[in-house]
Amino acid sequence: GKGLAVFTSGGDSQGMNAAVRSVVRMGIYLGCKVYFIREGYQGMVDGGDNIEEANWSSVSSIIHKGGTIIGSARCMDFIKREGRLKAAHNLVTRGITNLVVIGGDGSLTGANLFRQEWASLLDELLENNKITKDQREKYKFLHIAGMVGSIDNDFCGTDMTIGTDSALHRIIEAIDAIVSTAYSHQRTFIMEVMGRHCGYLALVAALSTEADQVFIPEDPVPNNWVEKLCKRLQQERKSGQRLNIIIVAEGAIDREGKPITAEMVKKVVVDNLQQDTRITVLGHVQRGGSPSAFDRILGCRMGAEAVMALMEATPETEPCVVTLDGNQAVRLPLMECVRRTKAVAQAMADKNWDLAVQLRGRS
Ligand code: ADP
Repeated sequence: GKGLAVFTSGGDSQGMNAAVRSVVRMGIYLGCKVYFIREGYQGMVDGGDNIEEANWSSVSSIIHKGGTIIGSARCMDFIKREGRLKAAHNLVTRGITNLVVIGGDGSLTGANLFRQEWASLLDELLENNKITKDQREKYKFLHIAGMVGSIDNDFCGTDMTIGTDSALHRIIEAIDAIVSTAYSHQRTFIMEVMGRHCGYLALVAALSTEADQVFIPEDPVPNNWVEKLCKRLQQERKSGQRLNIIIVAEGAIDREGKPITAEMVKKVVVDNLQQDTRITVLGHVQRGGSPSAFDRILGCRMGAEAVMALMEATPETEPCVVTLDGNQAVRLPLMECVRRTKAVAQAMADKNWDLAVQLRGRS
């Protein structure tokens, strides 16, 4: 059977285990020899026990677990060709020529580069007598399928990334809990949620918890935000509301691109309205806990589709990323999606927020 390996890379997210499970079982079902690569690219570079054959039962009882049981890491070695050469050696000697990468745009970029270099890496290994001529010939094509694991929903080409829905569950559970205590003491709470470049979590959390105000990177606040915020909070209190909830995304900014932080917002509320105001930073709670039904199914479907894509690949097939389009798992060209995702980041850096939002939408 074909050699196929799966690994998780970059930041973890809930639902990655469902994806790993699905890749392993679909791979085995279709007659592949399936491997785990532990600790992302680091395990690929280091080899040894990090690359281990998986079997049907090694992915039992993981679908309900958050994070990734095979570990994830950032890996400096893989950024350098020397590291990628070691990784190629570790794959070829095990007969692995199919890779499923679950990660963010950085991880997918690395995979694409690896595939572009594959032939020249193999040539160098052959020259150094690290692999045989037979191996050079037998394993000359590397196939890649990606999936996006990220709680931020920050990737172009997919309606949802694996982990976003679970993170939202964590956030709204926390806000619901805060609301009951805020009500008792007539407090204002400022909730800081994740999202350095993408306000999706903050925005959807605000809509689903009746928050009074949300600050997100894509919609920088106008110069008069202080007056507008104070007026709104006052109005709400006047109309009988006993509490206020304000949600601030990590990456929230003003029109000059300067950060709007939870501390700044608190100072505004305290100085102008003298409300009893507290900050809650949700932090890594958002990445943890068990995956939602949506993320489990998303991981399963995407994993199966990724394996199908690899089995159908020809030498000419470009690396793909499996994404969600409406309710369909689809394959898109990996690098095009990465390029668009990077273009969004650039547009944000250029303070062209309209373009960023437009690029992020479906096309
Ligand atoms: P994410 O995948 O969540 O975007 P990173 O950007 O940290 O996270 O990327 C994860 C890993 O992918 C990096 O530590 C590195 O090993 C690899 N990687 C990222 N970008 C590249 C690149 N341009 N070339 C080679 N490897 C890369």
